[in-house]
Amino acid sequence: RDLIIAIDGFSSTGKSTLAKLLAKELGYLHIDSGAMYRAISLYALENGMIHGEEINEAELLPQLEFIDVHFEWNPETGRNEIYLNGENVEEKVREMEVSSKVSLIAKIPEVRAHLVELQRKLGKNKRIVMDGRDIGTTVFPDADLKIFLNASAEERAKRRYEEMLKTDHPASFEEVVANINERDRIDSTREVSPLRKADDAVLVDNGRLTPQETLQEVLEIIQN
Ligand code: C5P
Repeated sequence: RDLIIAIDGFSSTGKSTLAKLLAKELGYLHIDSGAMYRAISLYALENGMIHGEEINEAELLPQLEFIDVHFEWNPETGRNEIYLNGENVEEKVREMEVSSKVSLIAKIPEVRAHLVELQRKLGKNKRIVMDGRDIGTTVFPDADLKIFLNASAEERAKRRYEEMLKTDHPASFEEVVANINERDRIDSTREVSPLRKADDAVLVDNGRLTPQETLQEVLEIIQN
């Protein structure tokens, strides 16, 4: 049968890092649901459907079912990478332009319904670790294990800033802090499946833990 591990939490708490390590350790497939929302946002941006804070839903929504969003395993990076209509957009979707719009896209109920359906299909008859905001509450409410990750706002901003420094499009520390706070605000207050800890999720604070230590803590939770 399928085995599902759900990892949720605020922005830049290290969800994807943990999910990736855990998937590798257990031989599961890692699916980064945030990358799917980012891919749809990139599509909307590239096709001129976003003006400031305004999303042209009348144009976007009828096209949703024709947008191909899928993952392909890259043995070189050891990552399951995101594709948008045949193009590898793993790096592009992390750029600040996408980060600054993705929560506006993610609060549209039709976009969520569409991606949740896709996420459930990806988990069918498989062993997966999926990370996101609503995996334990909405996508897989019956997940075998639910983790809710947290870390201080300062630690999270530092991590995301350092991560972006390694890319071709680094952002300033202030920009990173503002973006994280803004996304958390929109993600926690939207009407459809707002970001929150599922009642049966285990809270893990990894503010002072390295990725390896966080992995060890979760492996201990699994063993108990
Ligand atoms: O995980 P990541 O930071 O890449 O997610 C980007 C954005 O996608 C989040 O800020 C949120 O708006 C949206 N998201 C979501 N539900 C998920 C995963 C991501 O709404 N399951």
